[in-house]
Amino acid sequence: MSRLPASCLWQGGLPVAAASSLPSIAEDCDVAIIGAGYTGLWTAYYLKRQDPALQVQVFEAAHAGFGASGRNGGWLIGGMAGQDTWLAGLDEDAQEATRPLLYGMVDEVKAVCAREQIDCDLAHGGVLYAARGVAQARRARAWLSELHRVGHRDADFRWLSASELAAQLHIADGQGAVFSPHCATLHPLKLVQGLLLTVRRMGVRVHEACPVAGFGKGRVRLASGEVRARWIVPALEGASSTLAELKGRVQPAQSLIIATEPLSAAQWDTIGLAGRAAFSDLSRGVTYGQRTADGRLLFGARGGYRFAGRPRWDFDPQDDEFLQRTELMRQFFPQLQEVGIAYAWGGTLGLARGFTPFALRDRSRGVACAGGYGGEGVGTSNLMGRTLADLIGERETLLTRQRWVKGEAGLSSLRRWEPEPLRYLGYHAIRSAFVLDDALADRQDIPASLRRLVGAAADALEGLMH
Ligand SMILES: Cc1cc2nc3c(=O)[nH]c(=O)nc-3n(C[C@H](O)[C@H](O)[C@H](O)COP(=O)(O)OP(=O)(O)OC[C@H]3O[C@@H](n4cnc5c(N)ncnc54)[C@H](O)[C@@H]3O)c2cc1C
Repeated sequence: MSRLPASCLWQGGLPVAAASSLPSIAEDCDVAIIGAGYTGLWTAYYLKRQDPALQVQVFEAAHAGFGASGRNGGWLIGGMAGQDTWLAGLDEDAQEATRPLLYGMVDEVKAVCAREQIDCDLAHGGVLYAARGVAQARRARAWLSELHRVGHRDADFRWLSASELAAQLHIADGQGAVFSPHCATLHPLKLVQGLLLTVRRMGVRVHEACPVAGFGKGRVRLASGEVRARWIVPALEGASSTLAELKGRVQPAQSLIIATEPLSAAQWDTIGLAGRAAFSDLSRGVTYGQRTADGRLLFGARGGYRFAGRPRWDFDPQDDEFLQRTELMRQFFPQLQEVGIAYAWGGTLGLARGFTPFALRDRSRGVACAGGYGGEGVGTSNLMGRTLADLIGERETLLTRQRWVKGEAGLSSLRRWEPEPLRYLGYHAIRSAFVLDDALADRQDIPASLRRLVGAAADALEGLMH
């Protein structure tokens, strides 16, 4: 057993199974999966559930959970990025059929954890999208109306008044919140490691420290030679651009997290979150937080984008980016001014053009893949793992009929991102507008007309992203 560096809370101190590597003689198999994050492991799990005789192998460059799956904020959301745009285009019956699939991700992960005895500190406390200040409250109410317009009910997303919010979470200038029960919090790496043990028990061979150099029809190229497989499942998400076959289709972007030292019961009394609900605010900074099982406050926010979309896994805890998050966390919780930050880390996630996740089966290339979860992949990867297993098993199911499943055009149906420097410039233009809009939101010394103009510009730029 080895110990991982302590900069990431989840990885600090958690024992990691020693990496195994592939014997020099390559084996043929039915399905070769590239990447041992949630997508790869969930796909392996459901394939073996459906057909225990299937030969499934997973090839992982580092160790299971090295990528976003072992470093995320631990929100298990019963929903997926961009879902409301799809729901809006469906008739009522189709909406009725689709919504339970989305909400149901939380219960499905809970059910697997119970069945396979995976303890990942899962707490099903819902999520609070808190409005800090008047401008965010306005945005929250508009968002809630939109949610109800596309068929979500009050039982799924409802308004909490300022006092109802305060009963759950004490946040500076909390004006109310949108609450949804469809979210749980968990320890991300414990989930990965539980899945790893489970699929190995089911007969899946997971080869760690075994990078894939590329793939073609029916072949996966390793340093030690080639493996032949009927189906290849690249499950790389934020690292997709590192393989030529996927370049330009899933864009890497970063997110960064800090975690405090463990807080005392008295400190938690000043914050709340007794039921370990996930929380964020309604700013454009994509903030997210949770109360961890070991009593820390975890706080994350959208990170950067590197020219040419290079993934990033190493972060300097002294970097300004972490100081900004610390400052932001203290704006949320002035009561935590003196509390130390014990961990600071980041990772890379994947964005599909149009910002909606996808699953696809490309028969001509023998490839099935999913991704583009846009920072909401803990739950979505479970849904996509089930979907990929159905696609590979040629099963026509409710999952394979969903709009996130691309047609037979396969990989070619994935919209490509704009070439550089457009992506880089576009990202920074949008980010600057978001930062300015957040900074001006409740500034009474700035004319309301100017604030509205900045807000409208940020909305327009956000619209361009889709
Ligand atoms: C900081 C951060 C916070 C996040 N917070 C949340 C959250 O709270 N809730 C939520 O829903 N989502 C969150 N996400 C997103 C979520 O973590 C991801 O969408 C999800 O984990 C993606 O899983 P994956 O298996 O598709 O990819 P990954 O977990 O990235 O796995 C890909 C694997 O492929 C391996 N690999 C790469 N190249 C090769 C190669 N050539 N050969 C073999 N293997 C290779 C990598 O080592 C990695 O292990 C967050 C992401 C980040 C970065």
